[in-house]
Formats: sequence, structure tokens, C-alpha cells
Amino acid sequence: MEFKLTKEQEAITRMIREFAEKKLAPIATQIDRDAKIPPDIHPELRKLKLFGIPYDKKYGGGGESYIELVLVIEEVAKASAAVSVRLAAHYLAPISLSLYGTEEQKEQCLPKLCSGEDIGSLAFTEAATGSDPEAITTMAELSGDDYILNGSKRFITNAPLDGLAIIFAKTDNGVTAFIVNKNQPGYSTSKPWEMMGLRGGQVADIQLKDVRIPKANLLGPEGKGYRMLTELIAYGKLDMSACLLGIGGAALDEAIKYAKETTARGKPIANFQTIQWLVADIETQVEAARWLVYRLAYLASQGGDIRHQSALTKLFASEMATEVTSKALQVHGSYGYTKEFKIERLYRDARVGEIIEGVSEIQRVIIAASLLR
Ligand SMILES: Cc1cc2nc3c(=O)[nH]c(=O)nc-3n(C[C@H](O)[C@H](O)[C@H](O)COP(=O)(O)OP(=O)(O)OC[C@H]3O[C@@H](n4cnc5c(N)ncnc54)[C@H](O)[C@@H]3O)c2cc1C
Repeated sequence: MEFKLTKEQEAITRMIREFAEKKLAPIATQIDRDAKIPPDIHPELRKLKLFGIPYDKKYGGGGESYIELVLVIEEVAKASAAVSVRLAAHYLAPISLSLYGTEEQKEQCLPKLCSGEDIGSLAFTEAATGSDPEAITTMAELSGDDYILNGSKRFITNAPLDGLAIIFAKTDNGVTAFIVNKNQPGYSTSKPWEMMGLRGGQVADIQLKDVRIPKANLLGPEGKGYRMLTELIAYGKLDMSACLLGIGGAALDEAIKYAKETTARGKPIANFQTIQWLVADIETQVEAARWLVYRLAYLASQGGDIRHQSALTKLFASEMATEVTSKALQVHGSYGYTKEFKIERLYRDARVGEIIEGVSEIQRVIIAASLLR
């Protein structure tokens, strides 16, 4: 059992931290204000080969593990959670293909996804449901050699960005996953939602009107989409937990900086025990989440079922992020409540963790179900 990163992993962390501090941190407020990631950022992310980190080199991937992936997402999230979520949501498409794709589908789709030429999405949620897969209403009807998709999806990250979406729809025998090109006739998206946090994440609804999908684009066995979704979302929870870890780490940095720089009665507020306790609690919570996230990344790299572990990791990481951003804001006093300080954005960015990739209540249901069955 070893609790340390390899030299290569430390080097990747340093490289991404430098990039994020130099290129993302200075524009993070602008991204948040405009709810838009400037177009020149995407090529930079591609140049750093951030879109296919854990996939086989023969498909254009980086041949690394999920540990490298979470380290990258964590460092990016420290500077801009919106950019990290673009990456985290993208990864659900290549992971879907790598787990369930045929060799032909992998050869066709993975190289463009791994290079970042195609941006991935995974679309399950609909207006009436996010937590209940049985309740989806998007339909896929067989017509000759094609399926015809009709319906709509809600709150889909990266939906308006060119590339490929894994879309879940109802077929005669259950829920089925489809590989859908976002340029396909009949695929359109709404204006991105005005979000409270993660602004710039490009979360929009998808309308599917007579979208013709060849049988060759069916992903995995027909009717087995629900089981596939639970396995895929486990990887989504891993990526999201890495974002939340980055947000928590940034909150700690901000709390320490503010506590040391701000004085009361001529002394830094860091001298107050109240502030010391807040900072100590923040670090304790962030570190606990860190090792859950890294361990989950290790388990994902080994293959196998990570559903239980990912549910408890995301549950803990999301509550950690909500609590530590609140405590770090408290360290700032009224200034933390203003847009002058980064902690205000981190506080808003963190809140989605308890909702996205399945609400916390559902994570508790998953954890308890596997303990008590
Ligand atoms: C920024 C953002 C990005 C997103 N990106 C994507 C994406 O890329 N792809 C995608 O498919 N979706 C995406 N979503 C949707 C998100 O995953 C769902 O909204 C989430 O799973 C919650 O589903 P819901 O909104 O339908 O909530 P609901 O399921 O309606 O839950 C509402 C409330 O009811 C409670 N509840 C519901 N069912 C149960 C139950 N069985 N037991 C106990 N309590 C229950 C919940 O705890 C919650 O408090 C995104 C959402 C956001 C905010």
C-alpha cells in the first residue's frame, strides 16, 4: 500500500498547475461573468492532450490511468471549475465507448474524442426525471436498418459543442444507449441554462426530432442501457469528485491567503483561534476527500465494479465542497459575500456537487442498498 504519487504523476500535476495558474486563473472571473469559455482555451487543452488521458494509445489516448485524469481535473478545477466540468462531462463519451463499444466503434469514434476534436456528452436526464431511469420518455423506434430518435434531454453538459453524444432512449425492451453525432439532422440544442455556478459549462437541452441512427451506432446490448448507465455514471462521479476536490483545495488556499493578509487590531486574523479552527477543519475535510478520490481512481484503473465506492466518494466530496467553501467564505467575512473575492464563485460552483451525477439522496440509497441487501 503506497500513499504517494509517482514522479511522473507529480510532474503532470506541476505542469497542469502551471498551465491553470497562467492561462485559466486570470480569466476565471470573466468565464463566470460571461458564462462562456473563450474559444482559444479549447485548443490549449487539446495541445496538452487532456481529452483522452486514460485511453489506449492505439485509439489516440494518452495510455495513462484514471489517477492522472483526476489529478488533471483537480488542478484545472482549482483555477476554473467551468473548464474542469467541460473535461469531466466530455469523458463520459470515451468511457462509454471504451467500456461498451465494438472494436469498429472504438476505431471510429475514440481518436476524435481523445484528441478533443469531438467534445463528448452523455444525455440521460429529461424534464421529468433525473433520478428515475424508468421514467424517460425519449423514444427510439426501429425503421428498417435505422433507429429513429424522438424526444428531448435536459441539462446536458457540452450539448451545444460539436462532437458526439451518448443518448439514452426507450426501445421495445427497455432503455438503450446510442452514439449520436451532434451534427446529425434533427439534433438541436436550446440556449445554455443560466446557472448559479459552473458558469461557462454550456449546459443545455437537446431536442431530437426524427434523428436517424444506423443500427451500427447502437452502444452495448439493446435494452441494457439502465445497467450500463449505472456503471458509466460511476465514472462520472469519479470525474465530478475530482472537480469538487479542486474546488475544495482552492477554498483552502483562499482561506489561508485571506487569513494571513487581513488584519484586525493590527494583527493578522490568522491569529484568532476561530479562524485557525475553520482553516484546520477545511484542510481535514479536503484531505479526507482527496484520498477517497485517489483511491476511487486507482480502483477504476484496475477495472471492475466501482458503483458503491463512487457513490460514497461523490457523496463525501460534494458535501465536503459545500461545507469547506462555506467555511472559507466565513473566514472572509462580508468580503466573501462580494464578487471581489474568488471564494464567492467557489461557493456557488461547489453547490452543484450534491445534485449532478445523481443527487446525494440517491447516493445514500445506493450505498445503503449494497450494505443491507
Ligand atoms: C450543471 C448541471 C449539469 C448537468 N449535466 C448533465 C449531463 O451532462 N447529462 C445528464 O444526463 N444530466 C445532467 N444533469 C442533470 C442531473 O444529473 C440531474 O438533474 C440530477 O441527476 C438530479 O435529477 P433531477 O433534477 O431530476 O432531480 P430529481 O430526481 O427530480 O430529484 C429532486 C429531489 O427529489 C429527491 N428524490 C428524487 N427521487 C428520489 C428517490 N428515489 N429517493 C429519494 N429522493 C429522491 C431528490 O433527492 C431531490 O432532492 C446536469 C445538471 C446540472 C445542474
